[in-house]
Amino acid sequence: MKIVRTIKALRKETADVRKDGETIALVPTMGALHEGHISLIKLAKRQADRVVASIFVNPTQFAPHEDLARYPRDEAGDAAKLESAGCDLLWAPGVAEMYPEGASVTVKPGTASLPLEGTFRPHHFGGVVTVCCKLFNQVTPDVAIFGEKDFQQLAVLRQMVRDLDMPLKLIGAPTKREKDGLALSSRNAYLSPQEREIAPVLNAAITELAAKVAAGKPIEAAIEAAKKRVIDAGFAKVDYIAVADAETLKAVTQRGTKPLRVLAAVWLGKTRLIDNLPA
Ligand code: AMP
Repeated sequence: MKIVRTIKALRKETADVRKDGETIALVPTMGALHEGHISLIKLAKRQADRVVASIFVNPTQFAPHEDLARYPRDEAGDAAKLESAGCDLLWAPGVAEMYPEGASVTVKPGTASLPLEGTFRPHHFGGVVTVCCKLFNQVTPDVAIFGEKDFQQLAVLRQMVRDLDMPLKLIGAPTKREKDGLALSSRNAYLSPQEREIAPVLNAAITELAAKVAAGKPIEAAIEAAKKRVIDAGFAKVDYIAVADAETLKAVTQRGTKPLRVLAAVWLGKTRLIDNLPA
């Protein structure tokens, strides 16, 4: 697997692939790779001739008080995992390559970015859509794979690709979990052994909530019960536990005909965990 760090070197690689008439799948990541990321690489291999993974810890999607500086980094370990999963190329630009001095144009995310994460991390999706737009222009993939683990991110990116007529297909991949239900996340590395024991309660609580919603039980009461369950288990704070339209991410209080999603963001000590399920 080749590793490239400049746009010039990347363009040479993609031009060679195109010359051979082959297609490209892109899997964007921030590194600290786990089985969830690797499942995206495996899915990507079934979607295109060549798989490009990117590793870039994107500073513009972190607020100043967030965990950019301590975000886990292990490029050598990541490269070994990617290579053994069959990834063809690693695109690993530095910050100066991605955001050269003077860069000032950004993408403004659409309506799906406003609720939920948008309330608690108001600058986050602006950084995400801008870097993904750049990654799409750099790699020129036919398909890009994103995890449903970041369900709102996927919805926001679908709106961007649709509304800006971007010539690629987005594919959402199911969330990989530990046996006890905890969604795999690079941020799980922050959890103390005691927090790690409590962490699966998040998935248990939203599983119960999703089942109640699917059974037509009153949504607001079911949300309150889920919040109580996580707080009683020892979580520090609930940013949100919500039931939303799966496409627009707007909160709903009643079941209609459209698909619904249960989404949650909660704090366990100093670690923020997110998870979601269909309802
Ligand atoms: P990240 O490195 O956290 O930005 O994630 C890179 C990609 O991997 C995103 O599309 C995530 O949604 C996806 N991802 C993260 N965790 C998981 C997981 N547990 N299962 C499947 N995909 C995941």
